[in-house]
Amino acid sequence: MAAKPCEPERITSGRSAIRADLIALPGVTDVHDLHIRTLTSEMEVASAHLKVREDADTRRVLTMAAQLMRERHRVGHATLQVEPTDHKGCGTTSAPAGQRQRASISDLSTSDS
Ligand SMILES: [Zn+2]
Repeated sequence: MAAKPCEPERITSGRSAIRADLIALPGVTDVHDLHIRTLTSEMEVASAHLKVREDADTRRVLTMAAQLMRERHRVGHATLQVEPTDHKGCGTTSAPAGQRQRASISDLSTSDS
């Protein structure tokens, strides 16, 4: 129930608001690598990594997150990566140099052989 802005906001509600909303989704434990870009004057795109609990319904998380971005934050296109809580290799510490993070939905398998 935020106050109505007097003039239309061009940019989205901002990273912190989007982050807070994403992390509030059921099963989501962490949000990182959140990037928001304006493609055209009317289209914003975003990407984010969502860490989810093992028992989380990832399909539902994705659907809700995309809907949230679109409807509440007016981000027309969001690339969301779902990660298990023990996922390593991106974000916080030393990500391997030269290894590109793929903006795709990682599967939740914990075996890495
Ligand atoms: Zn990540």
